Amino acid sequence: MSKTATDNIQDLHNFGEFGGVNPSISDSSTYTFLSAKTMFDTFEGNTEGCYLYSRHSSPSNLYLGEALAALEGTETANVTASGMGAITAVILQLCNAGDHIVSSRTIYGGTYAFMKNFLKKFDIHTSFVDITSPDAVEKAITANTKMIYCESVSNPLLEVADIRAISKLAKKKNIPLVVDNTFSPLSIAPAKLGADVVIHSLTKFINGTSDCVAGVVCGTKDFCLALKDVNNGAGMLLGSTLDSLRAASILKNMRTLHIRMKKHSENALYLAKNFEKDGLRVVYPGLPSHPGHSLMKKQFSSEFGYGGILTIDVGSLERANKLMELMQKKNLGYLAVSLGFYKTLFSAPGTSTSSEIPEEEQKSMGLTDGLIRFSIGLDNDIHRTYSMMKACMIQLGILSADTVSV
Ligand code: PLP
Repeated sequence: MSKTATDNIQDLHNFGEFGGVNPSISDSSTYTFLSAKTMFDTFEGNTEGCYLYSRHSSPSNLYLGEALAALEGTETANVTASGMGAITAVILQLCNAGDHIVSSRTIYGGTYAFMKNFLKKFDIHTSFVDITSPDAVEKAITANTKMIYCESVSNPLLEVADIRAISKLAKKKNIPLVVDNTFSPLSIAPAKLGADVVIHSLTKFINGTSDCVAGVVCGTKDFCLALKDVNNGAGMLLGSTLDSLRAASILKNMRTLHIRMKKHSENALYLAKNFEKDGLRVVYPGLPSHPGHSLMKKQFSSEFGYGGILTIDVGSLERANKLMELMQKKNLGYLAVSLGFYKTLFSAPGTSTSSEIPEEEQKSMGLTDGLIRFSIGLDNDIHRTYSMMKACMIQLGILSADTVSV
């Protein structure tokens, strides 16, 4: 029987210094050497197993990186102090002044702003395309394109990228494909579908406790080592280093990721199906009405489902705000950005996580004012949650009182 990503994570065992069941935390920024020659060799990158300085690497960060490489099926992984720390380092490692990027137009607002605004400083330009059309990706490629970028399931519109098709195209053109898999850990494995680099904001599902910000770059040994290079590595030189204490706590949380993802997906599918039946405009990749549903089925691991994120369009920002405030008052979740928490989180992306995208562009990509993004929590009784959310919608006139309950 072939091993799954969950088996690979579970099979890792790094004991603590005194036989502890968790690896010891490296509580040091710098490391001592017995000889000056070994220190020099370590600086030059010639000494395996020696630590020099924790911005470069630390045992705790390596343990977490090892677990994330096992998750994504890549040779190795470098952890970073945030998802944006991972994304910006990868982009600046792959692209030089004058280069060009082809990116999905529906991506996290911070990534969009970095590509669209910040990279102008380096004369790096991005063509934003409809990622659901591999033809559009191909047409946008120029002689200067150095990276194709997308999210497996996009934030916030939940568009599903055809990673196999895009990676075939990328390989034909010899351009690396970078995929942000933050929305679909365990359910989609982009590297197995052909992506060259896989990124996560660990801040979300992978950590799952909304208590810290972190990120990771999963890829080949060559690429991850290049990121750490003391002379030219964007990871090393931009300095987005995760603290060892945080790396250790994220590693411990990762051990329950498989259980949590199943529950997030099960609960989200339940709500999506029932709200759609009630006549609401629901977007969720698990619904047959979603344009990416059959593609999702071809490239996901059904065990972990369609993910914990869904959107509902309630028609206007005013209604969206009222509904979110009322649901928070009823303790159905929190009006907060981010995702992957045990509690449901909701926000209106147009005025929060995607506010970096100009209004005109939001409209053209279908990001409407009344859209609410839900990160569905680990509620034990999701039927009760559904009934209570529905009552809020009826109270605000979003649903009529005669909607039949399941
Ligand atoms: N990628 C996606 C899909 C995100 O949703 C986010 C944050 O919301 C990021 C990356 C950035 O991650 P971080 O906030 O950890 O820097």
